[in-house]
Amino acid sequence: MRIVLLGPPGAGKGTQAKMIARDLGISVLSTGDIIRLAIKNQTPWGKKAEKFVESGGLVPDEVVIGIVKEKIDQDDLWSGFILDGFPRTIKQAEALEAMLGERNLSLDAVLYFAVDKEEVIKRLSSRRVCENCQATYNLLSNPPLQEGICDRCGGKLVQRDDDKPEVIRQRLETYEKETKPLIDFYQKRNLLYVIPSNGPIEEVYNKVKEVLEEVTAR
Ligand code: AMP
Repeated sequence: MRIVLLGPPGAGKGTQAKMIARDLGISVLSTGDIIRLAIKNQTPWGKKAEKFVESGGLVPDEVVIGIVKEKIDQDDLWSGFILDGFPRTIKQAEALEAMLGERNLSLDAVLYFAVDKEEVIKRLSSRRVCENCQATYNLLSNPPLQEGICDRCGGKLVQRDDDKPEVIRQRLETYEKETKPLIDFYQKRNLLYVIPSNGPIEEVYNKVKEVLEEVTAR
């Protein structure tokens, strides 16, 4: 199954992606994770990407499209993937469609995680990530057992630089302008499934499961 996860930052895409991957045995490709790793390792393009991420903007389309194609090829994921954070612009969506078209493939579903702006701001401000294994927590809804320490690996929990208030505001603006038009793009292609996502993780995931069963039966 080839699935795209769409929605504003903080909608829970990463969390839900991991749950779908665990249950369906499909790999997750998160452009945010790939970009963060490249920045951490200060690779040549990681250095260039840094300023876009830090300011709450988007890394240029050509770079991200190249990364996604290379990663799907490298890991041989054409038969199944969950894309978390890609596409984020119409240009990226068209490039994805073209890549799939060249292989006579298409997407099975686009899950749109619909969540209120207030909820998003609350979630992003209280998100913490393990420096070591990248596990994510939420201080309000999904706190670690011991403050500041990762339950899984004992690593230190930190706040992502782009989860600071000034950057959150800019990321939401970028989302409205660049990414929201994808809702219409995928609706027109009959691929869009809306997942109400203001509630807790398990409630959202139950809806995801329902939708994926419907997609499988289609
Ligand atoms: P995320 O973890 O998905 O919130 O991504 C973190 C940051 O990485 C975003 O705010 C962007 O700066 C960058 N990024 C991730 N995915 C993309 C993409 N598909 N296109 C452009 N920039 C991206």
